[in-house]
Amino acid sequence: MWKIQDEFDIAVIGGGPAGLMAAARAAASGARVVLVEKNLNPGKKLLLSGGGRCNISHAEFDDKKFAQKFGQNGQWLLSALASFGAEETIEFFEAMGLKTITEKDGRVFPASGQAQDVLATLFKSLKENKVKLMLGKEVLGFELKDEAIISAQLAEREILAQAYVLCVGGRSYPITGSTGQGYEWAQAMGHKIVNPRPALVPIKIKESWVGGLQGISLKNVEVSFWQKNKNLAKAAGDILFTHFGLSGPTILDLSKSVGEALAKGGVVLKIDLMPGLNIMALDKKLQEDFKRNKNIRNYLSEFFPQRFSDSLLHLSRISPDKKLSFITKEERETLLGILKGLELNVKDLLGFNEAIITAGGVELKEIDSKTMRSKKIKNLYFAGEMIDLDGPTGGYNLQLCWTTGFVAGASAGNNA
Ligand SMILES: Cc1cc2nc3c(=O)[nH]c(=O)nc-3n(C[C@H](O)[C@H](O)[C@H](O)COP(=O)(O)OP(=O)(O)OC[C@H]3O[C@@H](n4cnc5c(N)ncnc54)[C@H](O)[C@@H]3O)c2cc1C
Repeated sequence: MWKIQDEFDIAVIGGGPAGLMAAARAAASGARVVLVEKNLNPGKKLLLSGGGRCNISHAEFDDKKFAQKFGQNGQWLLSALASFGAEETIEFFEAMGLKTITEKDGRVFPASGQAQDVLATLFKSLKENKVKLMLGKEVLGFELKDEAIISAQLAEREILAQAYVLCVGGRSYPITGSTGQGYEWAQAMGHKIVNPRPALVPIKIKESWVGGLQGISLKNVEVSFWQKNKNLAKAAGDILFTHFGLSGPTILDLSKSVGEALAKGGVVLKIDLMPGLNIMALDKKLQEDFKRNKNIRNYLSEFFPQRFSDSLLHLSRISPDKKLSFITKEERETLLGILKGLELNVKDLLGFNEAIITAGGVELKEIDSKTMRSKKIKNLYFAGEMIDLDGPTGGYNLQLCWTTGFVAGASAGNNA
């Protein structure tokens, strides 16, 4: 079938954060750039990020420490971070007129608290650099010759370019446009794909009573997960009860490892509800406090939301009306055990539909870490979530997009 042909120096496929940054950067070097996005509005996932506030980065300006957040694979990111790390990204947004704020824990947000303003800033950069936008246009595949892409195929047209930057995201939140198509293309072009799996994803719990706690959040608890009595990992922070189990930053950060362990057998989560006191100190405090003239229900509500205290009492088999001074040693010890290690059995992880990111992706060994260029296809570059890197919550994953998008755009721009 005859198709309309459009010629550019660089075609960027995918209008998420990685693609928006790559297109703006590539065009800044003078190249004629087209950004192809299948949705009519780019940045759908970006607009959802950070609960609509968009946690754009993390104020960790030591590249080594930043890279460590990505685990063993993080090293690979060092040279790209040296070109465009968290500090340069914040400077970029500020120079484009987007004021940012850094919260106490290092998370960086637009000062307006609006993800929309981050997107508008990126659009401003695309406009200034004269990037051509093809919106509502889906790339269906690529034509290759001699280990190079010669065209990107759309339904009614084909795009011919010197270089192609692939930024179509992972498999998470497919409703936003990222359906994992990029993995299939990369694999067909000879790349190895490390098994894509949901990460930063809520956890389903077997105990059905947990569902009754939906909406309750607990601050500053410590969560550890165990398999066959072996502690595999722990994290401290906030958790949120949902109708199916647990969510919140601490749970999301543990979820990838929980999923990996779950593939090998049962997993138990233990929640230390009072991590500030060790078991001896907490027992001493309880013994002291239990001299007070109060019932146990009112006492526990000093520390936890009422519905949660009621569940703790139910588990401890202590009557809510019981006066503190009548609590037996046995009852106190049961409660103590629960306060220091509330055990919940993991049923499963939620799937890609609810995962914040996808772990796995295009294998790092096959991408040049200095340029993001494919080692298999001469004129192909990768950026964003489709690369085999995933970080914790806190702005690390968007920073990965800005960093790899910037470097891919710059390298493609220099070579076009
Ligand atoms: C609810 C939620 C909240 C989040 N909050 C944060 C946060 O606060 N901070 C943080 O660091 N990270 C956050 N993340 C993660 C972050 O949003 C992602 O890491 C990031 O969006 C990945 O960017 P990307 O450009 O690689 O891919 P995507 O954002 O997935 O963009 C890929 C784009 O490619 C397009 N596309 C796909 N296939 C085609 C095709 N065939 N042709 C044309 N276009 C195509 C898609 O439509 C999409 O627009 C959040 C994620 C979610 C789901």
